[in-house]
Amino acid sequence: MKKKRFITADIFFPLFTVLLFCLYAYLRLFYDSMLVTAVSVIAVASVSGYYSIRVRKKRDLLYTQKADIKRYYDKLSEEYVKLNNSHNELKSKYKELEANQAELAKSKERLQSLFDYSHEALWEYDAVEEKWHLSNRFLEICKFDREQAETKVNIIFEDFIHPDDKYYVLKMLSQVKSGKMKKFSIECRMLINGEYRWARIRGMAFFDKSGNLTRITGSFTDIQTEKAKEEKMLELACVDPITDLPNRMWLSNYLESLVKSNNPFILMYLDLDNFKVINDTFGNVYGDVILKKMGLRLKNCAGKDSAVCKVSGDEFAILLTDKDKVDSFDLFIDKLREKISEPIRVDENEFHFTFSIGIAFFPEDGQTADDLMKNADTAMLKAKSTGKNLLRRFEKRMNDELYEKLLLERDIRKALENGEFHIFYQPQVCLEDHTITGLEALIRWFHPERGYIEPIEFIPLAEEVGLINRIGEWIFTKACKFSAKINKNRTDPIPVSVNVSPVQLLQHDFLYRFINIIEKTGVNPGWMVIEITESALMESHKENALKLRELKKIGIKIALDDFGTGYSSMQHLQGLPVDIMKIDRSFIRNVSKPGNGGKLTEAMIILAHRLGMSVVAEGVEEMEQYQILRKYGCDVAQGYLLYEPVPENKVIKIINKSSNIIPEHMYQNA
Ligand code: C2E
Ligand code: CA
Ligand code: CA
Repeated sequence: MKKKRFITADIFFPLFTVLLFCLYAYLRLFYDSMLVTAVSVIAVASVSGYYSIRVRKKRDLLYTQKADIKRYYDKLSEEYVKLNNSHNELKSKYKELEANQAELAKSKERLQSLFDYSHEALWEYDAVEEKWHLSNRFLEICKFDREQAETKVNIIFEDFIHPDDKYYVLKMLSQVKSGKMKKFSIECRMLINGEYRWARIRGMAFFDKSGNLTRITGSFTDIQTEKAKEEKMLELACVDPITDLPNRMWLSNYLESLVKSNNPFILMYLDLDNFKVINDTFGNVYGDVILKKMGLRLKNCAGKDSAVCKVSGDEFAILLTDKDKVDSFDLFIDKLREKISEPIRVDENEFHFTFSIGIAFFPEDGQTADDLMKNADTAMLKAKSTGKNLLRRFEKRMNDELYEKLLLERDIRKALENGEFHIFYQPQVCLEDHTITGLEALIRWFHPERGYIEPIEFIPLAEEVGLINRIGEWIFTKACKFSAKINKNRTDPIPVSVNVSPVQLLQHDFLYRFINIIEKTGVNPGWMVIEITESALMESHKENALKLRELKKIGIKIALDDFGTGYSSMQHLQGLPVDIMKIDRSFIRNVSKPGNGGKLTEAMIILAHRLGMSVVAEGVEEMEQYQILRKYGCDVAQGYLLYEPVPENKVIKIINKSSNIIPEHMYQNA
């Protein structure tokens, strides 16, 4: 810093002038000099004051400038510090960048080696440069050299995809390119080394900020072995092990593809009637042999262009896709029925079968595979419940009926719990002396909302769902107690008949259960009759006959119900342990009418007597019928002409009043 001078040039010259003036005044006016001196002093003082103010001002200005400079200096230092900091920061960032770049280079290297030496065949499509990069493995699998492959890869992809898979692979790729799909995985067949092999192509697409595709990277794996295993498993899962026919799963898949093709076809569901009896009587092995034979027969009958499947236990399906067969369906059915009716022989046994058949037409009766299967099944169930050996086409209302059935089943269960079932007894009258010789126990259901429901409406369903076993045991217990009660003090006991369903009879522990009830209720077995329908006995006569013989041994009587409506062969009839033949009311209705009705009934009565059975005529409604039956030598009559089924208290009154007499309303006609 410069040293400051006390007297500057600006002060020196005025001061010098004043001094000269003073010297002059001293010389000229020494005496009066005092005043002049004073004036001079004042002048000097004024001038020096003026200059000292200026000096001070200048000094202040200097101070301000100095402060400003100091501030600038501070600010500059501050900026310098900042600059220094950011320089350091930049430096560390640069170092970091350098490290990252090194890492990136390493990763790139690693990726490249992965790309080149991975077991997976990898590929990358650079959408900006429109270039393909393929890994070594990729080239190895496809047997291409790099240049050839990388320039022609577009063609490779298109030309090497199996024609059946091309559409969906290319569609998917175009979706990826347009940005609709970012990740993908697809399985298709590719021509690899001269043969089509299953491959899995996986990939991921990358886009820039404006949404333009930059690249797609992915892998390509040969999954032929995996797929072959899968196909084998699927094949096994789609085949029924008993018949070797395709199963339900296969049918479902096949139907799905058929539905897509939109061509009309017919789906048939066929359920073997009464097949359960075979399994129960002869065992499952025997049953399987029959199913296998039947499957083969259906297959031969359906022909090459139709599919035959086994959809469940004893249910088959036939799929008619051939236009000629669809158009002449009636002819096909006739041929099928003819074939089915031929007997099936296993060992020395011969079996005759019928099918309940449900059919659904595509597209009228269902548009999806599931609907068609469900509807054909519903139609089949309908055919079965209406009387078996029938064919029904699906109708929309069948679904409502099915719902109704479900409701009814629920209500039967409730009825059992809530005690809605009752038993009525219908007296049977001896045609010789008009005494009551028996009582038939008949179930009655008074539904809390629907009122009286006839047995014919719910017994078949109870049989179908197995509830008949509970109902049957309940009835038998009640009837045994009732029989014990009314016959305890009678010299001429009146046996009570109970209807036993074939489903009950087929239970493996049927005998044990029934004998147990007899023992528990203390009834004399001789006071009980079991009524079995003719058809039930015929279905698996050997085993059923065995059980009935056991019951007979302890004294229970057996009645053959609804005789004449089944197809008993005389040979079978002879071997059956039956005491009573109940001639069905369809014959009794005709005894008084012109024609052979009477003769048939008479023949049946003779036959029964020859076989050592007594005869009960069912449904006697007219006096004329009663008298003709008497003339034919029929033993017992049952029908509205005599007595209707009545509740327990009423039947007790009837039996107490009417021993050895004709019912009152018959007096005039007897
Ligand atoms: P079913 O064993 O043949 O029983 C005789 C049926 O004929 C009874 O009908 C009876 O009321 C009726 N009936 C009696 N006399 C006449 C007549 O003169 N004319 C006419 N038209 N009908 C007459 P229900 O009680 O309606 O029973 C019908 C069928 O339901 C029975 O036929 C039997 O198969 C079954 N059922 C009834 N109760 C039971 C039962 O407790 N258990 C089993 N498993 N089935 C039963
Ligand atoms: Ca009966
Ligand atoms: Ca009957």
